[in-house]
Amino acid sequence: MHCPYCQHTDTRVLDSRVADDGAQIRRRRACQDCERRFTTVEQIQLAVVKRSGATEPFNRDKVVDGVRKACKGRPVTDADLARLGQLVETELRAGGAAYVPADEVGLAVLEPLRSLDQVAYLRFASVYKAFSSVDDFADEVAALMAERAEAPAQPPGPEPGPEPADRTRSPAP
Ligand SMILES: [Zn+2]
Repeated sequence: MHCPYCQHTDTRVLDSRVADDGAQIRRRRACQDCERRFTTVEQIQLAVVKRSGATEPFNRDKVVDGVRKACKGRPVTDADLARLGQLVETELRAGGAAYVPADEVGLAVLEPLRSLDQVAYLRFASVYKAFSSVDDFADEVAALMAERAEAPAQPPGPEPGPEPADRTRSPAP
């Protein structure tokens, strides 16, 4: 790598350390010529395999753009989208594979988007899962409703009283 200051071609590594939970290596370097120092980051190249079989470098912005379309008119901020993009990238990198199918990228979006905004989730899922009928929407909505019902607020109801004690009382001797 050329020195960013003088473009000299030889640099010396001063120090290497693992960062980002092992996903990165950062190297402190010094130029052999001007002696100025700079840092380089080495990261596994994550590539997406498209349905056509072609590969392209994973692009977080592209993922966020796709999700942003589904969030149109919804109360979702750019910060929410940025966080989602980060979650998706972390999830995909955690798999440890250098190549991920495009389908898996969409799959990694579904979970965080569902907790972010359910309407946007339905829109995104309708494209990703290629909904072909109203029934597909109905099934997905039913799944969302069922999840919501999983932790219901228990209304206070009448509690069963204690067993009547009289029944077993034996006469005093
Ligand atoms: Zn230099």
